[in-house]
Amino acid sequence: MDPRAAAHVLTQIATLIELHGDAPFRVRGFQSAARAIASLDAGELSLAADALTRAIGSLAPEAQAVVRELVESNGSLLLESLQEQTPEGLLEMLRVPGLGPTRIRLIHDGLHIETLHELEQAAADGRLAALPRFGQKTAERIALGIAALREAGAFVLYAHGLAEAETHRAQFAAHADVLDVAIAGSVRRQCEVVRDVDLVAAVRGSPSVVAASLAHSDGVREVVGGGGRTVSLRYHNGTRVDLSCVRPEQFALALWRATGSDAHVRAVIEYAHARGFTIAGDELRDAQNVLCAVRSETELYQHLGLDFIAPELREGTDEIAAAAQHTLPELVQESMLAGALHCHSQYSDGGSSVADMANAAIARGWSYLGVSDHSQSNTYAGGLSRDAILRQHEEIDALNADYTSQGLDFRVLKGIEADILPCGRVDYDAAVLNRFDFVIASVHTRYGMNERQMTDRVLKALDDPHLTVLGHPTGRLLLTREPYAIDMGEIIAKAGAVGVAVELNADPHRLDIDWKLCRVARHHGTLVSIGPDAHSPQGLDHITLGVGIARKGWLSAENVLNTRSAGAVLAFARARRDGQRPADVLASFETPTDRVRRSALG
Ligand SMILES: [Zn+2]
Ligand SMILES: [Zn+2]
Repeated sequence: MDPRAAAHVLTQIATLIELHGDAPFRVRGFQSAARAIASLDAGELSLAADALTRAIGSLAPEAQAVVRELVESNGSLLLESLQEQTPEGLLEMLRVPGLGPTRIRLIHDGLHIETLHELEQAAADGRLAALPRFGQKTAERIALGIAALREAGAFVLYAHGLAEAETHRAQFAAHADVLDVAIAGSVRRQCEVVRDVDLVAAVRGSPSVVAASLAHSDGVREVVGGGGRTVSLRYHNGTRVDLSCVRPEQFALALWRATGSDAHVRAVIEYAHARGFTIAGDELRDAQNVLCAVRSETELYQHLGLDFIAPELREGTDEIAAAAQHTLPELVQESMLAGALHCHSQYSDGGSSVADMANAAIARGWSYLGVSDHSQSNTYAGGLSRDAILRQHEEIDALNADYTSQGLDFRVLKGIEADILPCGRVDYDAAVLNRFDFVIASVHTRYGMNERQMTDRVLKALDDPHLTVLGHPTGRLLLTREPYAIDMGEIIAKAGAVGVAVELNADPHRLDIDWKLCRVARHHGTLVSIGPDAHSPQGLDHITLGVGIARKGWLSAENVLNTRSAGAVLAFARARRDGQRPADVLASFETPTDRVRRSALG
C-alpha cells in the first residue's frame, strides 16, 4: 500500500472519531500516525514484517493495527464501521471548507440537521447562530464555506439543486414582465447531482431588457456571463443561475435547448438537418425555409417525426432512434407504486415505531410497507437478535389483524436487511430467514475487497433461495464514497436469471443502482425494487426521487417489483424457497399495467 493512501485512511478515521465525539487522545493518535506515515517513502510500507515494524513501531497501538490491516488487505474495518455509523449527510458536510467534525457533531445533536441544504437554511434563519458556542460570526462563516464549495464548481445532491431552482424560479416569476418560468438543465433531466441552475422565462416586451432587470434581483452578487437575453448570475450563497429570457412563441424551443443535454440537443439538430429542417437559435424552419410554430416540446419532436422524449431520457444515448421507431418505454410513475420494501424502525437504527411507519405508508395510498431492520451481524446499527425478530413479528401480526378488522387494504410485510457476510453467506440461518416474508441482503462491511472477490461474494449471496432483493448494490455514497469494485453486469444478469430483484435505493445520498444500471437491468429482465431506505416517516418521501431515477433509467411499471400487489410480491419472494421460478410465479398475477388500470377505475 502506498503511504499517502494509508495516511489518508488514518486521517479519515481521526476525523470520524472526532465527529462521533470519542476520546481526544484517540483522535490525536490517528492524526500523528497519519503525519508519520505520510512522510515515509513508497516501499517502506511493505509486507516484510520487520520492515513494517520499523516503519510503524512508534505509532499508537490502535493506529499500528490499522496500518497492518491496510498492508494486508487494502482496507480498514474500523473505517468502514465508522462510515456506516455516520449519517450520510454528515459525511457530505465534511466537504464544506472550514467546517470541522466537532462543529458538525454539535450541529447534528443540537438541530438534528442531516443535509447540507438543511444546514444552509439553518445558517440563514438564525438557528445556527443560536446554538451554544456558535454565534452569528460562526454561522456566517459556515454559510460562506458552503458558498465557497459551490463556487469551486462542486456538485450538490439533486434535492439541494431542486430546492435552489425552485427558489429562483419563484423569485423570477414574481417580476411584472415575466409570464412563465420553467426549470431546465440537469435538474429537469433528474441528474443525481447537479452543479448549477438553468431557468427559462417567457417575457412581455424585450427579452434583453427583462434579463437586464432580473440580473438586479435580490441576492445577486455579480453577473458572470452572458449578455443580451441570456445572463449567468452568481448569488451571494455561491449558486450560479443561467437564465434565458425569450418571447412567448420561442419558449418551448428555448426550454428544450436549455434542458439539454448538450449531446441530445446536438443529435436532434443533426437529425433535423438530415430531414431538411434547421434549428437555429429558438427557431425551427422546414425544407422550404418556412418558420414552423413550436408551441410545446411535443410539437418540436412531432415536426421531426419523433415521439415525445421525456426530459429524463435526454442524455444523447439512443433515445432519438427509439423515438423514431416508436419504441420508447412508457415510463413508471410514482402513482403506479403499490408499496415499498425498504425501511427501518426503532427495532434497529430507525427513529419511529412500526405503526408510525405503516401509517405514513397508508397516508401515501400504499397497500403495503415492508419493514427491513438490520440483521444480527450489523451490531453498530442495532441489528436484530432472534428474540427481537420474534417480538417484531408478533407486533406486525397484531397490526395486520387490526387493519383487517378495520377493512383496510393494507399490510406490513415482515422483512430484514440482512448483511452479506464477507464469505458471501446471508446473515442468519435458513430457519430464521424462512420466517421473513422477504429478505433484502446488503453489503455493509469489507468494501476494500477486489472486484473478483466482491463479485463472487455477492454472486454467492444471490444463490440463497431466501433472498428477494439485493440492497444498494454498489455501496456508493454520492459525492463522498465511490462504489466498491464489483462487476455489476455479471451481478444484474445473474439476479435476473435466478429471480432476485436489484434495489434502486432512493436515499438521496445513495441512488444506488445508478440510472445507467437500470437500463442494464431492463435489458436482462431483472426486476428493480425502488426502496426508500426510510429511517423515519418523512424518509418515505425519498421514493419520489427514486422514481425519477428509475424513469431516467428507462424503467416502466413492468420493470419495477413494487408496482405489483402485496400478494404478487409475497409470492415472488416465496417462489425459490418452494422450488419454483419467481418469473413463472409472477406471471400468474395481473400485470402492473392491468393493476393500475383496474385501481384507476375504482
Ligand atoms: Zn443498508
Ligand atoms: Zn437500509
